[in-house]
Amino acid sequence: MAEQDYDLIVIGAGPGGYVAAIRAAQLGLKTACVESRETLGGTCLNVGCIPSKAMLHASELYSEAASGALAKLGVKIDKMSLDLDTMHGQRREAVKGLTGGIEFLFKKNKVDWIRGHAAFISANAIDVAGKSYSARNFIIATGSSVTPLPGVAVDNDRHIIVDSTGALELPKVPDHMVVIGGGVIGLELGSVWRRLGAKVTVVEFLDQILPGMDADVRKEANRIFKKQGFEFRLSTKVTKAEVKGKKAVLTVEPAAGGPAETIEADCVLVSIGRRPNTDGLALDKAGLSVNQRGQIEIDHDFRTSVPGIWAIGDVVPGPMLAHKAEDEGIACAENIAGLTGIINHDVIPSVVYTWPEIAGVGLTEEAAKEKGEVKVGKFPMMANSRAKTNHEPDGFVKIIADAGSDRVLGVWCIASVAGTMIAQAAQAMEFGATSEDIAYTCHAHPTHSEAVKEAAMAVTGKPIHM
Ligand code: FAD
Ligand code: NAD
Repeated sequence: MAEQDYDLIVIGAGPGGYVAAIRAAQLGLKTACVESRETLGGTCLNVGCIPSKAMLHASELYSEAASGALAKLGVKIDKMSLDLDTMHGQRREAVKGLTGGIEFLFKKNKVDWIRGHAAFISANAIDVAGKSYSARNFIIATGSSVTPLPGVAVDNDRHIIVDSTGALELPKVPDHMVVIGGGVIGLELGSVWRRLGAKVTVVEFLDQILPGMDADVRKEANRIFKKQGFEFRLSTKVTKAEVKGKKAVLTVEPAAGGPAETIEADCVLVSIGRRPNTDGLALDKAGLSVNQRGQIEIDHDFRTSVPGIWAIGDVVPGPMLAHKAEDEGIACAENIAGLTGIINHDVIPSVVYTWPEIAGVGLTEEAAKEKGEVKVGKFPMMANSRAKTNHEPDGFVKIIADAGSDRVLGVWCIASVAGTMIAQAAQAMEFGATSEDIAYTCHAHPTHSEAVKEAAMAVTGKPIHM
């Protein structure tokens, strides 16, 4: 084979791409990463996971102070007000620090950053800004973008009809925000603005929010968000949105068809899902195509149908999650370097960072029952001493185990720190744990995690504190 510029060129510097590039360089491969944004880190660090969590954290503190929850603990604040500019400022600082950190890691690991948009010229060369680069291997890690909704034109600059990027940047708290799509983004970013004082209406096409999660979790989440003042219009679809002056007028109708009505809002957030980024990559020049969902198909080792071209993250089938992309990045780089990189796609946790947090790993009860007989243990956070002491009565932990082997098939939590609690469930499942293994593991007291142990004890009907 002719001399190539690189052993590996990664296209896209999101959590999938930048992690793959660093691991490949650590393993001795001459590596470059192409990124068209001005900063590294992809959707996650620039406009996704990180800025949304910065706003969720700050708005939660604001709402604890504003709602009187802190006063009930004896923390009295005589005069308090919202300084939205400062809140946005700390969000931008968090993003700047972390994206700059990736640039530092690239330099440290000798990963070349090729700036610009990559398009294939052939199966072993790409063009970036008029210059061609060849490599023995390519990883496509181009991520995803917001799915547009026909009839609802997003214009983030006007702050009236926005996507998730625009919803992070609103210059003032809207009086009424309508969220289209009761999924993860709608509930997280809806929570930010609800906490800061907006009335929030969620219009969801399906008959329940949070598709893909365990049915008990979806029902309980709906109850909790309603208690927080969210309004839900379930089984409803938006057919049109018009901007009239500083307002948006939405036309909605029952999902199954029926009479239309209008809803007026100061801000509309379109969050109906995301679609893979493959436009402008000239995949055909490399001999590649996409499936019906616009994704690049891969095998177990992240190989596409073209030898030497690999793909990971949001652009391939599977959940669109940063940690899934990162782990795929590591495993894919290891495979390219001749090692054995493996991901267990059955054990990928997912977390919704609302208050309380909502987390799950493995099968829902419904999916597990389709595969065979199950035993279920459930423990309410109200009976957990730490949650009770912290005045966090909502939520539960639910463990689904195989009725015969007792092997844990799925764990679901709603709790203030569910995102942290789910890690132990994922680790237990990765090690093939039974519910008895978890029940007999000593958990520190008083911690929210004791609810996981108690739910495991409940699988055999023997929780202590219930
Ligand atoms: P991306 O992060 O999308 O990165 C792809 C990069 O490739 C982009 O920077 C893009 O500019 C670049 N690119 C695309 N095409 C080209 C090209 N042809 N040439 C050069 N560069 C190109 N996930 C979580 O796990 N936890 C969360 O809390 C979370 N919160 C989120 C909040 C929001 C508001 C959003 C929108 C998403 C969130 N996600 C979260 C999802 C997460 O951001 C994605 O799953 C993750 O970023 C996917 O990583 P990736 O590397 O596949 O792609
Ligand atoms: P989603 O798939 O989570 O939710 C979209 C929702 O919109 C669904 O409930 C769907 O039924 C509904 N919907 C679809 N079309 C509709 C229509 N026409 N009218 C009304 N409702 C409609 O998508 P999202 O919230 O946009 O998030 C996109 C991706 O980003 C997700 O895959 C998620 O994994 C990822 N993400 C993850 C996190 C996290 O891990 N905490 C946070 C944000 C985003």
